[in-house]
Amino acid sequence: CGIVGVLGDHEAAPLLVEALKRLEYRGYDSAGIATLNDGALDRRRAVGKLVNLSDLLVHEPLPGKAGIGHTRWATHGAPTVDNAHPHRAGPVAVVHNGIIENFREIRAELAAKGIDFSTETDTETVALLAQCYMDQGLSPRDAAYETVKRLEGAYALCFLFDGEPDLLIAARQGSPLAIGYGEGEMFVGSDAIALAPMTDRITYLEEGDFAVISRTSAEILDKAGSPANREIRTVAIDA
Ligand code: GLU
Repeated sequence: CGIVGVLGDHEAAPLLVEALKRLEYRGYDSAGIATLNDGALDRRRAVGKLVNLSDLLVHEPLPGKAGIGHTRWATHGAPTVDNAHPHRAGPVAVVHNGIIENFREIRAELAAKGIDFSTETDTETVALLAQCYMDQGLSPRDAAYETVKRLEGAYALCFLFDGEPDLLIAARQGSPLAIGYGEGEMFVGSDAIALAPMTDRITYLEEGDFAVISRTSAEILDKAGSPANREIRTVAIDA
């Protein structure tokens, strides 16, 4: 029910957990984060309160300066660790708010190609579809773009890719999502409140927007695929 993404100059895990805490007000049943640890995707997930995730991170830390995080309000699949986000398929990790209405159709297509599923969620379909496009030779950015084009329903999405420590992809339709601009750091969050400790310079994505984010830039495409100029506002929220 809450999303966060970090391309940082510092360890991402504490920032991700802090931002997720600020999204607790939305309600959730489980939480998780993924980072690039020396370039390699890794994740930690826990059912219940965020403190369970924090405790897990004490015993099994997750280093890395790029990461994504999620608090889940289960719609498809029970609130279990396996169904918790981030979802992963090969080089792709994704967090998602909302519901992919046509996931059964996509799932059937992937199943026909012999692809196996390990969760009951609509979200895993997004990760598997992106992986499928990458297997066909598409770049992470193009694979994410083609994936998002296939999705019906409401979503806010943030992708992180194995071996891509300076790339986050964010997309929204029907669920809010914002980009936060730091000094040589960039952030993604469900709202400005989540990002307040990191930055007060915020761009709200509009319906159908697709954003390619690095530490120094955010390139936003509108729903027609044309470059979009979105205002960066300074928002006043108590950090
Ligand atoms: N539909 C997704 C799931 O059940 C995302 C739910 C949410 O918005 O947290 O895992």
